Formats: sequence, structure tokens, C-alpha cells
Amino acid sequence: MNPRQNNFIPFNWPHMTGKELYYIAEAHFNGRLAGDGPFTKRCHAWLEERTGCSKALLTNSCTAALEMSALLLDIKPGDEIIMPSYTFVSTANAFVLRGGIPVFVDIREDTLNLDERLIESAITPRTRAIAPVHYAGVACEMDTIMAIAQRHQLKVVEDAAQGIMSTYKGRALGSIGDLGAYSFHETKNVIAGEGGALLVNDPALALRAEIIREKGTDRSRFFRGEVDKYTWQEAGSSFLPGELIAAFLWAQLEEADRITQKRLASWQHYHELLEPLEARGILRRPIVPDDCQHNAHMYYVLLAPQTDRQAVLDRFRRHDISSVFHYVPLHSSPAGQHYGRAHGELSVTNRQSERLIRLPLWVGLTEAQQQRVVDLLAS
Ligand SMILES: *Cc1c(COP(=O)(O)O)cnc(C)c1O
Repeated sequence: MNPRQNNFIPFNWPHMTGKELYYIAEAHFNGRLAGDGPFTKRCHAWLEERTGCSKALLTNSCTAALEMSALLLDIKPGDEIIMPSYTFVSTANAFVLRGGIPVFVDIREDTLNLDERLIESAITPRTRAIAPVHYAGVACEMDTIMAIAQRHQLKVVEDAAQGIMSTYKGRALGSIGDLGAYSFHETKNVIAGEGGALLVNDPALALRAEIIREKGTDRSRFFRGEVDKYTWQEAGSSFLPGELIAAFLWAQLEEADRITQKRLASWQHYHELLEPLEARGILRRPIVPDDCQHNAHMYYVLLAPQTDRQAVLDRFRRHDISSVFHYVPLHSSPAGQHYGRAHGELSVTNRQSERLIRLPLWVGLTEAQQQRVVDLLAS
């Protein structure tokens, strides 16, 4: 199906750069299919160069990279991790698998990111880490978060699932905390179907990260000739993708600049078209702080409080446009209530999550299609 050939406007449309099958054929031809082959190495080098992290490691998903982070930080039962409630489940789930307790802190009105002013009051003697989530690829207030972490000797794991190609004060998202996690899920900007990466910024964690990712063995060191046999070193799992995924991803990373530029152009076009609607009080547009260069991962609007969101989504559907909302805040979900705890009222989370809708945004979306979306919001 080509989304331009009928009336339907999908919410997301995975963008292929054109070289994916070519590189997969190359991996196939080379007969080198297990993980950490030549394509994986190219992806690692690209990520290290572009983000400045000390070690990048491809994983099967961002979820897997977050799970590796919990293992790397030795999260133990009862340890507390401060995070927003307004996020995808994996931010919390990765720590819950190790017995950690997510402590949900409210978000900022403007960016919908973790409100850094509320973090310190949520810290207890059991707090081990902060997991900021860069919502929509717009950075959290990282200087403040890193200063708090340093003051209280906490680790920082950036959930940068949506943040590839975004920066905060010129620094790549995911490269600022001790660890950072990217997603290459089909719905993200740079894709591999399912896939992710762990960015290790604290060099002291790099060797253990390799071990945990390779079933708890020092196999990576063995292949580099640093040890003469490889053995079981610590608890780990199989977190690495095969070469076919890395080959696909390489075709995407090569085009990451162009993908980002195209998405930014569509984002900017929505932003201009929606300005009069904001002036009329119909909705609020996203706010991007000056220190943040974003990657146009998403265009969302916050409907006026009295608007019936379901009615708007139904209207979109009747007019062949797919639009979605998210997230159901984790503190109000069954597992969030069972495993986590809310710090305070989370009133911004509750209020903003009920007003938000995401508009279709993908490479190839036309200005005419965007106009249709905006006209529907205005009607
Ligand atoms: C997409 C996403 C994830 C999960 O990514 P996967 O690669 O699908 O595991 C985690 N956190 C956030 C904020 C996300 O948007």
C-alpha cells in the first residue's frame, strides 16, 4: 500500500531509505549472520561518533537496553528509581524486573518531561537512580538532573527511545547520563523493525555492559584477542541483535540526517498551520525550550480542557485519518499501582495526558495531507 494513493492518512508510515535489502543481501552473501559482525560494528562506530558516548552497543530493543541498564546498576529489590509516570511501560518495567520500585514524579507543563524541580523531594535513602524520558525527542533539563544526581550519588539512565539526533545544549540525548537507551522500533525516526542501542557514557561500565549483553560471558574480549578463552563472568542474557537487523539499521543510520530534516520540515509546517488554532484557544502546540534541538519525533497537540478528545479522534477516523493518544499514566495502570508509587498528586500528568493527541507524522507526508488534518482540528 502506498499511503499517497488513497484517501487514508496513516498515523505512521515506516520510511525505507532504499538500501535496506542491499545491505541485508550483503550480510547474506557474506554468510555472517550472528551478532557483532561488520554491520553491527559500523552501527556502533556511527553511534559513538555521532553521540560522543564512550561505547555504543546494539540491542534487540530499547526495552532490552533499559533492562541491561538495571543489571549494570545492580538494581536490587526495594531500590527506588525516580521517573515520570507519563512514559512508555518499559521505562518502569526494566527496573521492576530486578525488584526495583518506580517512584513516579510529575511532569512539566511545557515539555511534558520529568519536572526537575520535584525530583529532590522524592529522594529517599533507597533511591538509586533517576530515569528521565526525553518525550517527543525534546530534552529534559539535564544540567539540573545531573547536578541532583551528583549531589545525592544517584545514577542517571536516559530513556532516549525517541531521542536519536536530538541534542541538549549541543550534546546528543542519551550521551549525558551514565547510560542512555535508543529505540529503533518501526514507530521511531530511525528504524530496524525491532531494535535498540545502549549508550554507555561511564567508561567504568563499558566492559560489564559487553559481558551482560553476551550472556554474561567475556566473549567480546575473546574475539578481540584480549583473553585466550571465554567464560561465564556474571549474570547476563542475550541482548544483541543479529546481523540482518544491523544491516537494515545501517541503511537507516546512513540517512539519519536526511530523515531528521524531512521530519523537521513537516513538524514546522504543522506548527505554522496550527498557530491560528492556538490563538483561538482550540489547542496548545508543543513547546521546545531554547537549549533543545529536537528531532521531530512527534507532533502532538493538547486540546482545550473542555474538548471531548474521543469525539475528536472519532471525527478523524470518520475522515480516514488515523490519530492516537497516549500514555495512560503508569501510576494509574494496574502494574504501576502494584509495583510503583506516586510522589505527590501528579496533577500535570493526569491533566495533560487526557488532553493530548498525536498527529500523523512520517517521511513522505504531504502538505496537502497536513492541511486536511489541520482543517479537521479547526472544524
Ligand atoms: C518506544 C519507547 C520505548 C520502547 O522501545 P522498544 O525499542 O520498542 O523497546 C521505551 N521508552 C519510550 C519512551 C519509548 O517511546
